[in-house]
Amino acid sequence: MGYGANCDDCGRECHPFPALLAQFQEDFFRTHPIGGHLSNFGYDEGDTVTLCGDCTYELLNPDSDA
Ligand SMILES: [Zn+2]
Repeated sequence: MGYGANCDDCGRECHPFPALLAQFQEDFFRTHPIGGHLSNFGYDEGDTVTLCGDCTYELLNPDSDA
């Protein structure tokens, strides 16, 4: 049974389900310097990030061309 979420990176539907669901921890977002960068990308504290399998693989393997 599916879950109807779209990937935050490529925008495609994550079928049958997302590979990764993560939430920005509020204290990290408020105190770490990259919080400002994340905000520039449109994220906010407490936002949930949803990624499909391909984008999760790319995130975890930055040297890959996947
Ligand atoms: Zn994706």
